Amino acid sequence: MAWTDPGRLPRLVAPIDDELTASYLMRTSWANGFASLDQFYNVTGWKHTAIAKSAAGVTALIAARTGTGVRSLDRYAISTGRVVQLGSDRVKRSQLETKSVRYCPVCVRLDHSSNPMPVVSAVFQWRVISHCPLHSCRIASVPGRVFRHLRCFDDLVSAGSEEDPGALPVNVYLYNRIKWGPSDGFLGKLPAYVATEFFSLIGHIRIRMEAGSIKDAIQGGFSNELPRQLGFDVAIHGNDAIWEFLTQHVQSVSDRISIPKRIYSPFIRWYEINGQNPDYKEAFALLKKHAHRHIPLGTEPLFAVQASPAHVHNITSASRHYGLSSERVRRVVGRPKHVASRARLFRTSDFGGSLQEEAALISIREATQILGCSTQLVDLIIEAGLLQPSGGRQGSPRRVHREHVSSLLATIAAKVNTGLEFEGLHPIEEVCRTFSRRRYQVVAALANGSLKHVAARPGSQGLGGILIDRKEVEWAVAQHAFNRVLERSNCPLRTR
Ligand SMILES: [Zn+2]
Repeated sequence: MAWTDPGRLPRLVAPIDDELTASYLMRTSWANGFASLDQFYNVTGWKHTAIAKSAAGVTALIAARTGTGVRSLDRYAISTGRVVQLGSDRVKRSQLETKSVRYCPVCVRLDHSSNPMPVVSAVFQWRVISHCPLHSCRIASVPGRVFRHLRCFDDLVSAGSEEDPGALPVNVYLYNRIKWGPSDGFLGKLPAYVATEFFSLIGHIRIRMEAGSIKDAIQGGFSNELPRQLGFDVAIHGNDAIWEFLTQHVQSVSDRISIPKRIYSPFIRWYEINGQNPDYKEAFALLKKHAHRHIPLGTEPLFAVQASPAHVHNITSASRHYGLSSERVRRVVGRPKHVASRARLFRTSDFGGSLQEEAALISIREATQILGCSTQLVDLIIEAGLLQPSGGRQGSPRRVHREHVSSLLATIAAKVNTGLEFEGLHPIEEVCRTFSRRRYQVVAALANGSLKHVAARPGSQGLGGILIDRKEVEWAVAQHAFNRVLERSNCPLRTR
C-alpha cells in the first residue's frame, strides 16, 4: 500500500480487544517497516511515556494516524484520579503498571494470526493480576525501554512459564471483572479494586486463624497474593459463605481477645481509611451487620454503628447494659469465673430475657427504701406472701421484683381513708409488735382490704406513715382466720 497521506500510516493493523496500546503500536510499526517501536516513536515524534500511560488524547492521535477504530484501546486509556476505569471495572490508578509492560510468557508464544487475542493484554497491566487466566503461569514484566526496542515478540519468551494452578481461580475472576464487568451477587456490588482488598482481608483472617495469631496487619499488604487467593476461595461462594466464615472466626479468636472489638480489627483499620468511600458501602454493611450480631459493641460505635439493641454480650457489656454486677450476670448466664473465656460471648436471644428479669429484681434493702419501712416489716410482707423473693440460697442475696414492690405500695396507699381522725390509730410496725404470733397477718389484713380504719400521717411517704387500728386488726384476723396458704393463693400481688 502506498503512503499517500503523510499523516496516515500506509499499513493498517486492526487492534485486538483488550490489547495494550504499546503492543498494538508495536505490531503497527513492524507492519510499516520500522525496526522497533522506538524507531517508530522517533519518526512520528510520539511520546512513549504518554503511550505507556495511555494518556488521554493518545488514542485519538493513533486513530487519526492509523485510520482505524480504536475503541478497544480507548477502553484502557487511563484517566486521572485515584480510582480509574479499566476495561469494564474500576481499579486504583496506583495499581496500574505504566513503567514496564506486563505480559504472559505463554500468550506471547501463541500464533495470534489464527487466534485473535492480544499478544499483550492491557488487563495484565493491573498489577493485582498475578497469573495469566489462560495459562496459569506468572505474569512476567519487561521494562518499557526494553520493550520499545523489541524486534519481535519472541524476544519475550525467555521468561519462565511454570504453571501455578493454585493461583488460577482468583486471577480468572479478576481478569473477567476487567474484561466483562461485575457479576451478580454480593461481590458484584463491590468495584474490582474493593473486591480484591476484601479478598485479602478475608484471606488474612484465614491465615491468622490457622496460625492461632491475632495479628492485625496483612503481611505484605494488599499486594500479597496469598491472602488474596485464600480470601477469594471463601468470598466467591457469596454472602452466606462470608457470613459463616466470619462467625467461625469470632468463635475461634474470642477466647484470645479481651476486647471483643479487636476481633474485627483488620476490618476496622480498613474502615478507618475507606469508611467514607461509597465504593466500600456494601462491604462495610455486611461487616457492620455481622459485628452487630456477634460481639458486644458497648457504647463505642463500630463501623459507625451504635449497637442498639445488642445481639451479643460478654460479662462486662451485659453488666453495663443491664445495670447488673458481673457476679449477677455470671450467675444468670452460668459462667463461673473459672470457666474458660472461650465462653465469654453469649447471645442476647439466649439470655436477654433472664438478664432483664434479673435487672428487675432489687435487694431487700432497696425494697425497704421504696416501701419506707424496716427490714422486719418487709420480712412480714414476704411471710404473708405479698412479695415473693428469689435467691437467698448459695450465697446469693434475697431479691424482690421492683414492680411488685411498687404495686404493693400503691395497693396499700389506696386503702388510706383520708377523712379519719388519728386517735386510736398506730403505725403498722407498732401494731405488729403487739401481735405475739402471726404478725404477718397484720399486713395481710391491710393489703387484703379487711381494714377500714387506715390513715396516713400528712407528709409521710410509704408504709412508715400508715396508721391502723389494732382492734380492727384483731377483729379482722379473727373473722378471716388468715393463714399463709390462703393469703398466698388469693394475693393479687403474687409474683409466681
Ligand atoms: Zn497466557
